[in-house]
Amino acid sequence: MKLFKCEVCNYIHTGDDAPDKCPKCGAPKEKFAVLNEEATTKVVRSEFSNGLHMELYNVLQEVEDIAEAGIEDDLDPGCVAIFNKAKEQAVFLRKMIAAELEIHMKKGKWGVE
Ligand SMILES: [Zn+2]
Repeated sequence: MKLFKCEVCNYIHTGDDAPDKCPKCGAPKEKFAVLNEEATTKVVRSEFSNGLHMELYNVLQEVEDIAEAGIEDDLDPGCVAIFNKAKEQAVFLRKMIAAELEIHMKKGKWGVE
């Protein structure tokens, strides 16, 4: 199996052969170039790490939901302080992840380059 990159829009296709037409921009098969081993490794590594970021992002969303329920429950100040802190940290980490993923996209770490 190989990776093929559309030279028009940077779409990455995985398979034994390039697609007849780019599903993203409609460019013909001739516009696809095979990625070399180094580029392929890079793409696979990036996909793994980006997947972890997304997983973490979703877990943090859950943390935020739990924290909000706790804040609303408002049992006592000690509990609310913990839920507020949890929410604050979850929001902060999610922003960090979003920023990191944006950098990846700009650097082409989503599978381009
Ligand atoms: Zn394309």
